[in-house]
Amino acid sequence: MQDRPPLPADPASWAFFLDIDGTLLEHAARPDAVLVDASLLALLDRLDRATQGGLALISGRAVADIDALFAPLRLPVAGQHGIERRDAAGGLHMHPFPTQALRRAALRLRDFAACHPGLLLEDKGHNLALHYRQAPHLAHAAQEELAAIARELGEDFELQGGKLVVEIKPGGRDKGSAIEEFMGEPPFRGRVAVFVGDDLTDEYGFGVVARLGGHAVKVGPGPSAARWRLADAGAVRRWLAECAVG
Ligand SMILES: [Mg+2]
Repeated sequence: MQDRPPLPADPASWAFFLDIDGTLLEHAARPDAVLVDASLLALLDRLDRATQGGLALISGRAVADIDALFAPLRLPVAGQHGIERRDAAGGLHMHPFPTQALRRAALRLRDFAACHPGLLLEDKGHNLALHYRQAPHLAHAAQEELAAIARELGEDFELQGGKLVVEIKPGGRDKGSAIEEFMGEPPFRGRVAVFVGDDLTDEYGFGVVARLGGHAVKVGPGPSAARWRLADAGAVRRWLAECAVG
């Protein structure tokens, strides 16, 4: 296990990019079953102030979903693996891609999930996630079905594996590209980039912050390119609380 990440001398010199599920919150049985507690809201609010706005959420969830979860907080956010992003000034950025083909794939996947009890389709609009957390024995069937659909959709889309989930997402965008976009804008530009995440999709973000000379922090066990390591969401929160003090 690698070391616990360092603390900033001045929290406002760092740009904090945080994954949500498995990082700030433990994974739930269903993505709609997570609950953001008051202590997490207070912590993020404190960190946002201490960093003078240098805090953004980077998730596979849709931005509207994230806003609902974290209300009344309204942070800069990248959703659906970098397809949609709200910058620190409140500007919305959407990356275009062929939507009709994905709508047809969504219908096909809905039927597939209906025929396989325990599978859950999460239609995020621009990403389709098939969860098998409640039916791990269906992992192979779920992966095969999504691989077949991804082949039919062609090069505009790609498969993305995760913890007990497999997704189809538009190609060319990921959590790393979202972090790069934030780092080109105020108030993030010129700061030390820090990204904390727990899953395969977060490796894109780890690569980007390492290249920028920042800190990549992996949550939980498993192989990772990240330099630093925290054990679980509780450890992440304790470390962030110390960061907010500076
Ligand atoms: Mg995660």
